[in-house]
Amino acid sequence: MTHPSTTVTPKVVLVTGAGSGIGEATARRLAAAGHHVVLGARRIDRLAALAKDIEDRAGSAFAHVLDVTDPASVRSFVGAAHDRYGRVDVLVNNAGVMPLSRLDALRVDEWDRMIDVNLRGVLYGIAAVLPIMRAQHAGHIVNLSSVSGLRVDPTAAVYSATKHAVRALSEGLRQESRDLRVTVISPGLTRSELTGSIGDSDVKDAVEQQMDIAIPAAAIGEAILYAITQPADVDVNELVVRPTAQG
Ligand code: NDP
Repeated sequence: MTHPSTTVTPKVVLVTGAGSGIGEATARRLAAAGHHVVLGARRIDRLAALAKDIEDRAGSAFAHVLDVTDPASVRSFVGAAHDRYGRVDVLVNNAGVMPLSRLDALRVDEWDRMIDVNLRGVLYGIAAVLPIMRAQHAGHIVNLSSVSGLRVDPTAAVYSATKHAVRALSEGLRQESRDLRVTVISPGLTRSELTGSIGDSDVKDAVEQQMDIAIPAAAIGEAILYAITQPADVDVNELVVRPTAQG
């Protein structure tokens, strides 16, 4: 059984896409460190089970349904957290999809979905928390990019475009903010359910073979914990965390 630390000042941390992979691991790690985690995703049954498990381990968790492609849903998620705790300290914009394919496969619906979840979803999250964080004169936005935000590979053109965009808008937000912290986390191959969103079966097989060297999602949760627990005047802007064996 993991006991929360008693030495930290608990933060209210909202995690999108918290039902699996990096979001789940982050929620578990932050809750074990004594923070209040607010779990958002579409599959509320998973979130409810995760919240119960965290609370069974003496952590604090609150589950709320969330579709990041719907601005009203994002506002409702953030509003529910704010109503419950009276503040929002950290938003982890983690929800993402990765239906990789070559551009000439013309899987246009999948391009739209990546833009809607990976880019618009992050923007809607920022829009929902920014007025609260401005009023608090404090807050921290953690955006999940990827090593695909630093490089481009075949089949990943659109996914990379969304992840490059997340880095660009994070840098713009950082420059506009003097009392908010902005962190970009760029994972490499990490064990999760992300390859489940790949509809092109040849691409999916190829990517799943690469996942042999993937690191556990907990490694990314640890990086996020590090970023959010620095002193208020220290803004960790970028962390790239990938398998030692990844080229
Ligand atoms: P997972 O597929 O395990 O988790 C993604 C989560 O996002 C799911 O739990 C899903 O829950 C949620 N989600 C998807 N669509 C929506 C939506 N419209 N609204 C709300 N939630 C949504 O993948 P990862 O944990 O790997 O991915 C987390 C982030 O990390 C993503 O941004 C991804 O791009 C990034 N990343 C991952 C890497 C990896 O190798 N795994 C590498 C680099 C970056 P639900 O379906 O219930 O809504």
